[in-house]
Parts: sequence; C-alpha cells; structure tokens
Amino acid sequence: MQNKLRTLEVEAKKAIGEAGSLSKLEKERVHYLGRRGELTLILRGMKDLSIEERPVVGKLANQIRAHLEACIQERLAQLKGNLKAERLKKERLDVTLPGTRPQVGSKHPLTLVLDEIKELFAGLGYTVVEGPEIESDYYNFEALNLPKIHPARDMQDTFYITKDILLRTHTSPVQVRTMEARAPNIPVRIICPGKVYRRDADSTHSPMFHQVEGLVIDKGITLANLKGVLTLFAREIFGSDVKVRFRPSYFPFTEPSAEVDISCVICGGEGCRVCSQTGWLEILGSGLVHPRVLAMSGYDPEVVSGFAFGMGVERIAMLKYGIDDIRLFFDNDVRFLHQFAIG
Ligand SMILES: [Zn+2]
Repeated sequence: MQNKLRTLEVEAKKAIGEAGSLSKLEKERVHYLGRRGELTLILRGMKDLSIEERPVVGKLANQIRAHLEACIQERLAQLKGNLKAERLKKERLDVTLPGTRPQVGSKHPLTLVLDEIKELFAGLGYTVVEGPEIESDYYNFEALNLPKIHPARDMQDTFYITKDILLRTHTSPVQVRTMEARAPNIPVRIICPGKVYRRDADSTHSPMFHQVEGLVIDKGITLANLKGVLTLFAREIFGSDVKVRFRPSYFPFTEPSAEVDISCVICGGEGCRVCSQTGWLEILGSGLVHPRVLAMSGYDPEVVSGFAFGMGVERIAMLKYGIDDIRLFFDNDVRFLHQFAIG
C-alpha cells in the first residue's frame, strides 16, 4: 500500500507539472485529491491493514496530500504568472505608432451664422427673446393684421394642428407676445430667433427653417433708424464693401415696407447666375410697424412708432458660404458639416 501511495505521488506530481492551463490543473487536482480521487480510493484499503500499519500509512498519505497540494499551488502561481506575462506582452504600448485622432465635432453652419447675428444685435443693445413653435392663429396671423380672409395668408401656408392651432410660419408671434407684455409704455428692442414652418420644399425652401426677426418700438423711431441698423447688419455679415438697397414692398404688418438687397457677393454687382444677372441679392424684409399692429398689442400709434425686420437664417448662410442647396443643412453629412469647423 505504501508503494501504491508513492507511485501515485510520482504520477500526480508529473501530471501537475505538465498541466498547461488553469482548467487542466483543476482537473488533475480533482482526479488525484478530490473526494472520489485516486488518493481516496487507495485509502479505502486502510481497513484491511493491521493496527500497527494504519498510523504509518495514514501519516504517509497526509504527507503526500500536503506535498501534492503544495505542488498544485506552485504550478498555479506559475500558470498565473505566464498568463499575466502574455497579457502584458499583448498590451505593450508602441509609442512610435501614430495616434488615433479623436473625432472633434464642430458647430453647424446655421448655428455659426445665428451666433454671429445674435452677437451683432446684442452689441446694439437688443435682447434675445424666444417663444412657442406651436402657435394660435391669433398670434401667428390675426394680431399681425392678417385676418382670416386675408389673401396674404396664402404666402405662408402652414401645418395646422386644429383650425386655430398651427406651427408658426414666422417668429413674429414672439414680437406680438412681447408687445402685449410691455405695452403701453415700455420700449422694445428685441430679436427673435427660432424655427418656423411653411408648406414649401425645394432647393431653396425647407418645410422647417430658421428666422431671426427684430423689433424696435420707442418714441420717434423712423425709417432712418431702420436703414441705419440694417445697413450696419449687412456690412458686418457680408463685408464692409457691400452696397445695400431698400426696395419698396408689401407686408400686412408693416407700412411702409421694404425688401433689403445687397450687392451680389459672388459677382460684386456685375451680374451672374446667383443674382439672376441683376447684381443684387435679397436678404430680408422690413418696414415700419403698421399702426394697427401697434394698437392691437396695446401701444398708442400716436405716441410711439417702431420698425421690424425678418430674415431666413438659411438664406443668409447660403449667401455667406456659397451653398446652393438648402437641403444640405439638414442632411447631416459630416463631409459637408466639417467644412465649417473652426481651427
Ligand atoms: Zn451676382
């Protein structure tokens, strides 16, 4: 029996030494030292031994168990060490490799233009005011001198939620809300940027687009103030050498009304495809606030006067950057968007 034990010891030691993985080692441990392992099997024969032999064999068996367990621990440490060394080898940093460039985002071209416009007007003392995109017919049309039967509503067909609730077609309702809150005595000097909606879709119209409108109300405001501010605006955004032209126009909420044109930024006024050979580009609409609009919002048109203007941010950005299709703004193609990254 002692021979059996010694043979087992040699055999097990060899198997442990050759176990090439943690799972293999565990298998050997169970095979030799487990509850139904080889050692236990041999020890079952103890009952046939004489009383004198039993303690001797028992002692030997315990020594062998302790020895094999130590062998297992040693092999375990070895295998773990190998694994760690392998992992470190795999994770070794090659500092000479070129780095991975992080993807850095950039501001959307419309945000860039909007930021520039906001900054310009903030410098002139204007406050930025925002309002709801879902509006009532009253704020979007009626309070702006566009009663239900008015034909000019056709120019701004929109998306109706109910007969009286709609997606705003311009940011003018924000002007009305501001006037109502401040009338009859507090002066107004605001710009209203935001999303607006109309039923148009082609290469220069999008069903959702952005506007910035401006409104000034105070005593003694005249067309001269309007011309001064908008000329400054055009030169700041498009360059100090652009010429500015005010062309009579019609809007229901202003009287008189004027379209504002700048000399073509592409051809400099010579005439080209972009300006349809006219040398001029329309950039915004404007006018003196209609007395009826002032009165409806609670101001006395005999005491105060005001001017208002409105522009499409997409149009300004298209002219400024030479973009010929409005849909590019909303396709979210990074090849397009990255061209506006600064720095
Ligand atoms: Zn031109």
